[in-house]
Amino acid sequence: MQYLPNLLFVLALIMGIGYFTRNVRKLIRNIKLGREVTLDGPSAERWKNMARIALGQQKMVVRPIAGILHVIVYVGFVVINIEVLEIIIDGIFGTHRIFAFLGPVYDVLIGTFEILALLVIVAVVVFWMRRNALRLQRFWKPEMKGWPKRDADWILYIELILMGLFLTMNAADVRLQALGAEHYVQAGAYPVSSVLAGWMGSLSETALVGIERTAWWLHILGILFFLNYLYYSKHLHILLAFPNTYLGRLRPQGQFDNLEAVQKEVALMMDPHADPFAAPAEDAPPPEKFGASDVMDLSQVQLLNAYTCTECGRCTSECPANQTGKKLSPRKIMMDTRDRLEEVGRVLDANKGAWEPDGKQLLDDYISREELWACTSCNACVEACPVSIDPLSIILDMRRYLVMEQSAAPSELNVMMSNIENNGAPWPFNQMDRLNWKQEL
Ligand code: SF4
Ligand code: SF4
Repeated sequence: MQYLPNLLFVLALIMGIGYFTRNVRKLIRNIKLGREVTLDGPSAERWKNMARIALGQQKMVVRPIAGILHVIVYVGFVVINIEVLEIIIDGIFGTHRIFAFLGPVYDVLIGTFEILALLVIVAVVVFWMRRNALRLQRFWKPEMKGWPKRDADWILYIELILMGLFLTMNAADVRLQALGAEHYVQAGAYPVSSVLAGWMGSLSETALVGIERTAWWLHILGILFFLNYLYYSKHLHILLAFPNTYLGRLRPQGQFDNLEAVQKEVALMMDPHADPFAAPAEDAPPPEKFGASDVMDLSQVQLLNAYTCTECGRCTSECPANQTGKKLSPRKIMMDTRDRLEEVGRVLDANKGAWEPDGKQLLDDYISREELWACTSCNACVEACPVSIDPLSIILDMRRYLVMEQSAAPSELNVMMSNIENNGAPWPFNQMDRLNWKQEL
């Protein structure tokens, strides 16, 4: 019986980490459904981008209030969770504050954790107010209804609860240390929870142990729950922002990708030794698809982008199409891509990993043609994204599919393209008539 709490703790730890690992494997499987990409540019520059954008949060602070608050939550959350290491060791071996032997260093660590916990609580409250009291426009766009809205709020509530439990646990500990309770070593500095401890002055030792143990258990179970919640949430970005910024685009933003399949066909057309009448070999692979109509046609980086999106809406608030009332929202493009990828993942799960067409696709079932053609390809969304996501690349790949596979460009574009093809200019005039204007002078 003496070891029951330790056994329960190990069981909770195994279940929490096991379920998380299962979801990570699913995530990797889903991302690998995309096309492989060859990375361009030096890896040193990629590491630099990751350090600057993901670790240094450089693009977040472009909007200073939200940026600084985000940095507080991010640093606070990462640093405070160093304490999780102590909780895990204590939980497994039945010790209490195992790192107390660090003495003054331990005092500084616990003191820092507490101040950060308080700052995180303040930041989370401000974030909640911005979303729900001030109702900032970008958090109330049509794509933010239902689950995305609830998800954003729940993350704030979970962070609030975790920080509250951490401080409650410490406050009870402060009182127990003062009472000289057995097992509660004299260690740590508690600049915030000592204030809370003052409110617990009338409680008995048994009640304090009950509060301390309950907060301790709920804190670690809450962390394990949050770890597993990530997969279903936009909060996945706290992990994926790192690979995503590493894999971010290094080429100039306006530069188009060449379609490899088109390049091959053009090279064949230009090859003087190629036989124009040759039939394809029997074992030749089927012709490649141009552009993208579903998530499997996108690249692995684009799919990683979709999982990394924080749904912050900075892209949408900068998008000229969205600002002028068009249906397009680059954030929705990323959310739709993730939703469709998850749907494909569920089909794979149901069929033991084999793909069975489900009669749906990203184009039309999730993203409409109207949205795709509303894009001005200005790159403002790419520039605004704090985690190096490129919604425009998905829009362009889907447009390519419409134009090259379905000849389904809007009629104005079709006319323009025919004119370029026939007249060498977008206007419907013969090249020979180009200088006719001279005669009118
Ligand atoms: S590139 Fe397209 S989606 Fe992105 S901001 Fe410009 S118009 Fe909007
Ligand atoms: S694509 Fe980037 S800017 Fe747009 S919502 Fe997602 S994370 Fe925010």
